[in-house]
Amino acid sequence: MPEENQAKTSNASDTSAAPSAGSGPGSGPRGGGRPGGGSGGRGKFFRRKKVCKFCTEKIDAIPYRDVRLLQQFVAERGKIVPRRLTGVCTTHQRRLTRAVKQARNIALLPFATRH
Ligand SMILES: [Zn+2]
Repeated sequence: MPEENQAKTSNASDTSAAPSAGSGPGSGPRGGGRPGGGSGGRGKFFRRKKVCKFCTEKIDAIPYRDVRLLQQFVAERGKIVPRRLTGVCTTHQRRLTRAVKQARNIALLPFATRH
């Protein structure tokens, strides 16, 4: 009885395909979309941004006779409120001080408190 060897189950490893070394740097996938910058809202402002009242109302020349207007920028003692408190811009603050002084001269505004 001829013994037949089982045919060599040749799982012949025919690895001829060697990975070609030295292929250049593969072109990476160019990501198109950035993840949207999520810089969130810092919405907490304690102070509102003060804008010059005269600029917003487009008052160019400040009427020195308008006492009610001037009194908004004059403290109780008759002092002119600094502009960092009122938010008046420099140009209008200058005109404001002028107007206040004129108003003082015609006794619309007090110079100072009398004790
Ligand atoms: Zn202004």
